[in-house]
Amino acid sequence: MIDIWDRVKKIISKENVLLNKKSDPNKPSIIICAGIHGNEPLGVIALSNVIDKIKRENITISGNILAFIGNPFALAEKKRYLEIDLNRIWFEKESQNFYEFEQLARIKRLIDDFERNLINGNKVFIDLHTTSSKSIPFIIVSKNKFSVDYSKNFRYPVVVNLDNFIHGTLISFLEEKGYKALAFEGGFHEDENVIKHHEYLIWKAMVDSKIIETEFEMTDVGFEEIKSIRDKIFQIKYRHNISSQNSFKMNPGYKNFQKIIKGELLAVENDNEVLSPIDGKIFLPLYQQNGSEGFFIIQKADF
Ligand SMILES: [Zn+2]
Repeated sequence: MIDIWDRVKKIISKENVLLNKKSDPNKPSIIICAGIHGNEPLGVIALSNVIDKIKRENITISGNILAFIGNPFALAEKKRYLEIDLNRIWFEKESQNFYEFEQLARIKRLIDDFERNLINGNKVFIDLHTTSSKSIPFIIVSKNKFSVDYSKNFRYPVVVNLDNFIHGTLISFLEEKGYKALAFEGGFHEDENVIKHHEYLIWKAMVDSKIIETEFEMTDVGFEEIKSIRDKIFQIKYRHNISSQNSFKMNPGYKNFQKIIKGELLAVENDNEVLSPIDGKIFLPLYQQNGSEGFFIIQKADF
């Protein structure tokens, strides 16, 4: 991981906006964010790789692209956030005196400026993430039909309705501005395979929107590992909250999408056993220090 962080350091030392190009307000637009969580370096590298290739090969852009880094100082510290989670505060007042609110204001200005004079309503937002435990890649969207339908194009497993449980995300904020918005969790924070999934998704999104006309070669990005749940849609049925005073310890070894049964011992919190209230699949089990959600439980859904 040493060279990964070295690369991130180089990227964020130059510019937090990797590309801001408006070639035609009548054509579709895409916004891509990486590193809104500072302990997730691989999305930053993937986004930088794609943008570098566009610049290096002088690839024609026939639409509008804004690609930026979410939380550069948290990335410099290798922390999820410095004072408050930047991906939970998009509907809060900006006057609060936390470092992340400065970033919020910076990104809002950037987006406002990008949006100015855009005419074409075909707008897409991609937010690149990684997970704190081993995971197959998957997409998270709200339950809005236009985002759910859009997410199906990529053929990764999709989890809908996170917005019922987690508020103030950048995808919710941009959905309100008319973007088809998805968060892409490419896999585990330290699994370098993640980079190719992120790159694949970014290219595919740009090609599908006809912003980039070059036909992207869909190389093997390891769909084998998601074969059994490819194209499947899940919804969140349960969220386990933890308050900051509580000591929460997830039982080791849980992988995202792993099947669990009602009554299964999942974690220990303040010396109490935490049992699964329902059958389903475990989702986003917490194996890092920061976080207010211990885990979620998902079940298959029809959307
Ligand atoms: Zn994240």
